[in-house]
Amino acid sequence: MAITDKIYVKNHRQLASQLETSIPKGAFKGATLDLLYTGDGLAKLDEATRERVLDFAEDFLDCDCDNNPYCGHPERKFVRYLLELRAQGLGPDAIVDVMSDEYMLYAYPGDVLSFLDQSVRTLEAVEALAEVEGDDEMERRAAEAARELSG
Ligand SMILES: [Zn+2]
Repeated sequence: MAITDKIYVKNHRQLASQLETSIPKGAFKGATLDLLYTGDGLAKLDEATRERVLDFAEDFLDCDCDNNPYCGHPERKFVRYLLELRAQGLGPDAIVDVMSDEYMLYAYPGDVLSFLDQSVRTLEAVEALAEVEGDDEMERRAAEAARELSG
């Protein structure tokens, strides 16, 4: 399962009651995106919640694809966001705190940790493959990125 399947809406029950309907907990689930990011849904939210939802939409759902938000870009952008927080030196708990503050989302720190470990292993595989291929530039970049993520 991708990490974006393990990102949840905080205050889920409260949000559902504002929307007067039930929504899945998963932030990237289709029904959540549909309900939260259509005019109707937004209008029903209290102001603090709406601001966070709009920030999320602006930062992750802003591409022009016809099938937005189902084009895969929101998930990819969110993965990049997580990796950037890690590269700034944040650990899993701090990363979860930041996403709660900024977007009213949460994840289990253990899931974030597994994702980061997996990312480092992927980069190490890229590095090893680049070495075999004799691609020095790619090897260097992968090594550097893995180092950033390892903290
Ligand atoms: Zn897109």
